[in-house]
Amino acid sequence: MTFNDLKLSAPLLKAVSEAGYETPSPIQAAAIPPVLAGRDLMGCAQTGTGKTAAFALPMLDRLTANAPRRKGAVRALILTPTRELALQIGESFEAYGKYLKLRSTVIFGGVGQAPQVEALKKGVDILIACPGRLNDLIGQGFIDLSALEIFVLDEADRMLDMGFFDDVTKILDRIKNRTNLGLFSATISQEVMTVSWMYQRDEVEITVAPTEESKPDIDQYSITVPRLEKEEAMLRILRSGALERVIVFCNTKVMCQRLSDDLRRAGIRADCLHGDIKQATREKTMADFRHGKLPVLIATDVASRGIDVDDVDGVINYDVPEENEYYIHRIGRTGRARKKGISFTLLGSFPEKAKLDEIAKFAGFHIVPMIFDEYGCLVPAPAEEKHPTSRRRF
Ligand code: AMP
Repeated sequence: MTFNDLKLSAPLLKAVSEAGYETPSPIQAAAIPPVLAGRDLMGCAQTGTGKTAAFALPMLDRLTANAPRRKGAVRALILTPTRELALQIGESFEAYGKYLKLRSTVIFGGVGQAPQVEALKKGVDILIACPGRLNDLIGQGFIDLSALEIFVLDEADRMLDMGFFDDVTKILDRIKNRTNLGLFSATISQEVMTVSWMYQRDEVEITVAPTEESKPDIDQYSITVPRLEKEEAMLRILRSGALERVIVFCNTKVMCQRLSDDLRRAGIRADCLHGDIKQATREKTMADFRHGKLPVLIATDVASRGIDVDDVDGVINYDVPEENEYYIHRIGRTGRARKKGISFTLLGSFPEKAKLDEIAKFAGFHIVPMIFDEYGCLVPAPAEEKHPTSRRRF
């Protein structure tokens, strides 16, 4: 298949060819025709699969082919969780749309809003935005979404996992007459399904397997220790100095607090996030972790939402998570932005081992079993004997 077969217009074909793309990637081949036809789309795909062009190319074609509903109003919106992604998508739109007369701009928080407001005042067709700043600027009356035609939620799982569920639904509720809703997500979590169920109509579902390059690069280990020695095992990993920024996950608030107190007593800078921590303290802890002042953060699954730090070196699962999806989310905190990550799961009992085996099977992960040897070094566990040889009498 070629881009020509996908019936894209000549200016787009020219831009695509100048970008050096020869053939459409699987998600592009599958997503471009339904988006061109105005269908809603649920795409299960990761960064690195070519998903940006999969929604950008048909979106640009549709916007060019159809007359705007109202001059000067935003016609297409791409919502994405982080500033880095927003900027990357912005660059892609510039490249693919270089022979078209459509204007795009990128808005995100953490910087002054004046230049973004200036750009908006000049009129933009395509807006690429992070949810927090978008809601701020809508609230201040700088953005009118009433003539929006196409809406894409990019990295929906990560966005919803970061606690943007209410922001996202607030934005979706404002849009009455859109024609396309595209939802792209690496995993289809419960919240992603809820958004799809609430806002999509007769959507086309597409799943593409992650390419080798797009898979997060995380070395996953399990460590079997006697139940009462889990804390000692965690301290050994933390003290080895191999990891500069670590998140330790526990299943309960009580365990989070206890570990945090114990680590501090042991002279390790650590703090915890759980449901009973006040908002102001929580924000300070997150800022310290983000800025590298706090090397160890201990969190429950729910409290860890909203932590968006790209260079977490490692994750330690002090407890094996109760839900399979939690494991994927936990280890997904590391190995981001094309860096290598590492995860350790401590196993102190047979039920914990059994649960981790189930998770590995569910997610298709290879988790390497390790133990501490007599010198305290982490070494591969001896292979389990599947069929223990029966004792022989001679
Ligand atoms: P994405 O998954 O959208 O982040 O894209 C990953 C990378 O693949 C980007 O650097 C794109 O420029 C590149 N890319 C996207 N589509 C194609 C294609 N059809 N052929 C070659 N490279 C592509």
